[in-house]
Parts: sequence; C-alpha cells; structure tokens
Amino acid sequence: MKKKIILVTGANKGIGFEIVRQLAKQGHQVILTARDKNKGLAAVERLAAEGLKVHFIPLDVTKEQEISNLKEEIQEKFGRLNVLINNAGILIGNENSVSVSKRSLQQHLDTNFFGPLLLSQQLIPLLQKSEEGRIINISTSMARLSAPGSGTAAYRLSKVALNGLTAMMSADLAGSNIKVNSLDPGWVQTDMGGAGASRSVTEGADTAVWLATAEKIPTGKFFRDRKELEW
Ligand code: NAP
Repeated sequence: MKKKIILVTGANKGIGFEIVRQLAKQGHQVILTARDKNKGLAAVERLAAEGLKVHFIPLDVTKEQEISNLKEEIQEKFGRLNVLINNAGILIGNENSVSVSKRSLQQHLDTNFFGPLLLSQQLIPLLQKSEEGRIINISTSMARLSAPGSGTAAYRLSKVALNGLTAMMSADLAGSNIKVNSLDPGWVQTDMGGAGASRSVTEGADTAVWLATAEKIPTGKFFRDRKELEW
C-alpha cells in the first residue's frame, strides 16, 4: 500500500473523526483538523490511546486566514497532499424554502459550501504535486435534486451547492491528476444525526475511506455505499 497524506476537516468528532481513525489504522498519514484547538487535541489523544498517530492543524473552514496558514504548514511539513476530505458541516434549524432566512442560508453556505470551495482552491496546487489528487465532499441524499424533501432548506441548499461544485470542479480539472466526488454517508449516529439514526459511524465513514484509498475511482460522481447515486 502506498502511504497517502490525507486531510479531514471537522474531524474532532462524528463521521470526520471515524474517517481519520480508519485511515490512520490503514497506515496513512492523516491530518486531523478541527476549529476548536482543545477539542482537536483531545481527539488526537483519543487516537494516540489506540496507538494511532495523526498530525493536528487547527482549522475553522470559514476563516480564510486559517486556510492559508494550513496550506503553508502542509507545504512546509509534507510538500504535497493526496486527499482532501471536506467533512465539516452544520445543520441548524428546520425552515423550509418558503420561510428560510437569508441569514440562516448564509451561515450554512459559509461552512458547508464556501469552506470546501476555498479550501479546495487553496489546496489544489498541493494536490497537483501528488500522483493522483482527490477531493471528497461529504454531502447528503437530502440534497438530491431527483428526490427533493422538505424542511432544512438552508442545509439542503448548501449541500446542493456543494454537489454542484463537485460536478463543476471535476469538469474544470478534467485532464489533470485530480478527481472530485461527493458522497452521502447515510443517516449516521452523531451529534448531527442523533442517537436514533440507522447507521454507526463506522458505516458512515466507509464510503469516504473507500474513495480516499481505492486504487481506481471515477470523477464528478455522487456515491452512497460505494455505489453511484443519481444527483
Ligand atoms: P457532527 O457530529 O455534528 O460533526 C460536525 C463536525 O464539523 C464537528 O467536528 C464540528 O466541529 C465541525 N464543524 C462545524 N463547523 C465547522 C467549521 N466552521 N470549521 C471546522 N469544523 C466545523 O456531524 P456529522 O454527522 O459527523 O457530520 C459530518 C458531515 O456528514 C457533515 O458534512 C454532514 O452534513 C454530513 N452528513 C451527516 C449525516 C448524519 O446523519 N450524521 C447525514 C448526511 C450527511 P465542532 O465540534 O467544533 O462543532
């Protein structure tokens, strides 16, 4: 196995933390990022207790200065990046598209869309330095245009934008060494998904880990359970 350098955002808990855990277990060099330094370092310690060593960099995906500091640190320490996993996300409120406020939409777009966009743009030069760069956007089936649901409009619209970015960036990077995909982890038992969710974090992390490590993957697609999903 070729050891990859893999960055995961919002990885102090939930699906992101489990993605880091599984990738570190496979022997990859994982960069765990979190917006709260103490929570991030506590996550690093939990992994260390399992014998897993990861590198920590603080990152609030809504802060451009932190994105640029992170880029510099990766450049200096590793010189390249193989995989960027845009996992950090928020889901606040339940207004539908008829009542959702601009403020709520802006808040969700800042974290769930502009974060992945700006981070991807900044890290593409480092992804280009690896044999095959991969950007993995953690989306949701709640953003499928083929199956529009109701409620949580700010969240779902931000993930529709993220899926649009996946398709567009993958086309714009056609012919380069970088592949861009979205995935739906399913309904997962995390602070966001709640205790009643149908999947464990182990199951929720699986498709992301597969997209990060599989020998061959396509680009510009949407996945669930390692299978292509209609947008
Ligand atoms: P979670 O347990 O609430 O974890 C979310 C993570 O994102 C936390 O580490 C949180 O940090 C971080 N985060 C939030 N805003 C951030 C910011 N501005 N900068 C950096 N990190 C930030 O949620 P989860 O269920 O693991 O969700 C992970 C991803 O899966 C999200 O993108 C979500 O939309 C997606 N997803 C989840 C489900 C589900 O059922 N759970 C279903 C479909 C898709 P703090 O701890 O500091 O808040």
